Amino acid sequence: MDLTSPKVIRSIQEKFGFTFKKGLGQNFLTSQTVLEDIAGAAEIETGVIEIGPGFGVLTSQLAARSQKVLAIEIDERLIDVLNYTLSEFDNIKIINADILKLDLKSLIQKEFNGGQISIAANLPYYITTPIITKLLEEKLPVRNIVVMVQKEVAERMSAMPGTKDYGAITVLCRYYTEPSVITNVKASLFVPPPKVDSAVLKLRVLDKPSVEVLNEKLFFKVVRAAFSQRRKTLLNCLCSAFPIPKPEMSALLEKNDIHPARRGETLSPEEFAVIADAIANN
Ligand code: SAM
Repeated sequence: MDLTSPKVIRSIQEKFGFTFKKGLGQNFLTSQTVLEDIAGAAEIETGVIEIGPGFGVLTSQLAARSQKVLAIEIDERLIDVLNYTLSEFDNIKIINADILKLDLKSLIQKEFNGGQISIAANLPYYITTPIITKLLEEKLPVRNIVVMVQKEVAERMSAMPGTKDYGAITVLCRYYTEPSVITNVKASLFVPPPKVDSAVLKLRVLDKPSVEVLNEKLFFKVVRAAFSQRRKTLLNCLCSAFPIPKPEMSALLEKNDIHPARRGETLSPEEFAVIADAIANN
């Protein structure tokens, strides 16, 4: 069954009386090349988790390259469809659940015996950031995360310090992973087409975080504070978030060679770490 064919997609819709739910980010991919890009970049060793299989177009590519695919789909209506479209595979397990509500660590332990897995998805765009944040913060045994996201989001997640796209989400991604954009994808390659163009983002999870910090929670609090008001100086942003008097905070920054009048977007992850450690030791 060629699930990239709009004609086949229409015939499945008719067979199951299925209509797309915009609120669930249901834009199905129809490009064989892009599917192969995603599945290839995931560098699957044995197992892979797919978030949001839809009609199963990516699932079948992943199944052909792995021992086991665990596909997590929130839309109950799609479970019968997936059992039909993926019936020729015996290495796919479908779970009807909300990815944001799952205990992924226990699930991976149970389904993959604690082995290193990959994660691949054409993500529902309305929850891209919460999903990526969850996948990174839960410190899962995951080697590669390859996801289709809105083009601007991919640019933000993989931005370099000092650029206009650099923000708190960049620091999160660069702390845990090495991010790279694999390819850009036109909206016309989806059914129905979304309003924005997309990109395939690869996050190669690092063995250990890219910078060492005394307190991870505090590090991310500093990062969020620094980007909270882009027009304010670093000093003012930090003083709004931490109960440290301004002269003391200013001295703390200067002592660490960071000018208090700088803006958050000019700081590297290493500099955020220096500030967080100085606050921790204050
Ligand atoms: N994988 C298919 C493809 O590439 O054509 C469908 C991708 S579509 C962009 C996103 C999929 O995620 C939809 O099937 C949608 O129902 C599902 N989804 C949306 N929210 C979800 C959630 N919270 N948990 C799991 N799946 C979700």
